[in-house]
Amino acid sequence: MEIDEKPERFIVDGLRLDGRKKDEIRPIKMEAGVMNRADGSCYIEWGNNKIIAAVYGPREVHPRHLQETYRAILRYRYNMASFAVDERRRPGPDRRSIEISKVSREAIEPVLMLEQYPRSSIDVFVEVLQADAGTRAAGITAASVALADAGIPMRNLVSAISVGKVDGEVVLDLNKIEDNFGDADMPVAMIVESGEVTLLQMDGIFTKNEFIEAMELAKRGCSQIYDIQRDCLISKYKKLDSD
Ligand code: ADP
Repeated sequence: MEIDEKPERFIVDGLRLDGRKKDEIRPIKMEAGVMNRADGSCYIEWGNNKIIAAVYGPREVHPRHLQETYRAILRYRYNMASFAVDERRRPGPDRRSIEISKVSREAIEPVLMLEQYPRSSIDVFVEVLQADAGTRAAGITAASVALADAGIPMRNLVSAISVGKVDGEVVLDLNKIEDNFGDADMPVAMIVESGEVTLLQMDGIFTKNEFIEAMELAKRGCSQIYDIQRDCLISKYKKLDSD
C-alpha cells in the first residue's frame, strides 16, 4: 500500500488501513544465527521492515583508549541502507541514526553483564534493509536476540514496540502512514518479566489518560514480542540439536 499524503481517516469501521485492529501488531518473523562470521545474529521481518542485527564480541577494544578496566563497553550502530526508503537516502550516519544508536544502546545495556568482560567491547550492528516505521523497536528486538545468540551473558531479553495515536485513538505498532501522518508516536522498550522500561520516547502529544492507555498497550505488545523472541531462540537451539 503506497500512500504519500495524509488519509482522511486512519480507522474505518474499527479497522486500520492495513486491516488491523487497534491493539494488533503486524506479522513478525524472526530467525537467529543467520550470519556465519558474526558471533550472534538475527534477521527480523516486522510488517514491511526488514532488518539484520549482528553482534561481534566480546573482543579487544579498538581504539584502545576506549577500554574500561572493570567492564566491557557496548557499542551499537543503527544504520539505514540508502535503498531502505522510497526516496534514496544519503548513505552514512545522520542525526537520526546517531540518536537511534544512542537510545538503542541505552535500552539494551541494562540487561548485559558487562562486568564479566573487562577491557573488551561488544559491538552491535543493526542494518535496516527496508523501513516501514518502528525500525528502532524492531532493531532493539533483533539486537537482543542476536546478543543472546552470541552467548553474551544477559539478565533477560529486551523487547520493544511503538504505540501512537491516529484519529484520536491510541493504536499499537504504527505502520509508516500512521507514523508519518498520525498525531503521536511513542517507541517503548522494556524487560517484560520485570516491567522495567529501558526506552521511552515520544513524538507528539498524549493526554494523561491516553498515555496510561498507550503504556498498557505497549506492555501487552512487548509481551507478545517477548514470546516471539523466545520461540526464535528455542528453535535455533532445537535446530542445532537435530543437526
Ligand atoms: P522508526 O523507524 O524507529 O519509527 P522514525 O520515527 O524516525 O523511526 O521513522 C519512521 C519511518 O519513517 C521509518 O521507519 C522510515 O520508514 C521512514 N523514514 C525515516 N527516515 C527516512 C528518510 N530519511 N527518508 C525516507 N523515509 C524515512
